Amino acid sequence: MSGATRALATQVLVINRHMQAVHITTARRAFVLLWTDIARALDSTWVAHTFDAWAERDSAPHEATVGTSRGPIAVPRVVQLVTYDRMPRATLRLTRRNIFLRDGHTCQYCGRRATPRDLNLDHVMPRSRGGPMSWDNVVCSCRACNLRKGGRTPPEANMRLLKKPVRPRWSPILALAFAPGRPPEWEPFLANLQGARELAALWADAEAAGALHAELRAEALAETG
Ligand SMILES: [Zn+2]
Repeated sequence: MSGATRALATQVLVINRHMQAVHITTARRAFVLLWTDIARALDSTWVAHTFDAWAERDSAPHEATVGTSRGPIAVPRVVQLVTYDRMPRATLRLTRRNIFLRDGHTCQYCGRRATPRDLNLDHVMPRSRGGPMSWDNVVCSCRACNLRKGGRTPPEANMRLLKKPVRPRWSPILALAFAPGRPPEWEPFLANLQGARELAALWADAEAAGALHAELRAEALAETG
């Protein structure tokens, strides 16, 4: 990946007029939002710049830049929507990653924490008996427990779930925003979001389990679109 391509793939936080985080996008898309005057770029002092003002501005030494016909332009880390109060609300997708994240990368039968590679999805009511792929029927399980349980329900296998599985309250943007390695510029806009503490703790679990951040982040970004 070239420097410019990498810079354009940088994750950018989108906030609304009330300074609330509503989305995460790529620098490439953020520039389109600036160019079409849908959003303004926020500098480190939270001054909002139009595309022209941003392009004229001298970039700080720590900022990544992309070369344009007008010279290098800094990649903003936060952009603010001019008109919309909120982007369409995305629902959290039922994916392997999100289930592992919800369950703290911990087997819901024996309590062992493991890397994503060593974990499985377990259907509490087995698939063979009509158990659906749903937030309340699928949990994170280690391979050993998954094998031991086989095509049985937990009571039949004499196994117990650590907790009742439910759909998480957090939004996809929050799930992504709290991944380790987030830019410090995002912090002020994340602290007050619903589920923030829970998410920060879950990501710490993922980190302790040795989950691959780059992979998870790329996957998460693909999900938020
Ligand atoms: Zn287990």
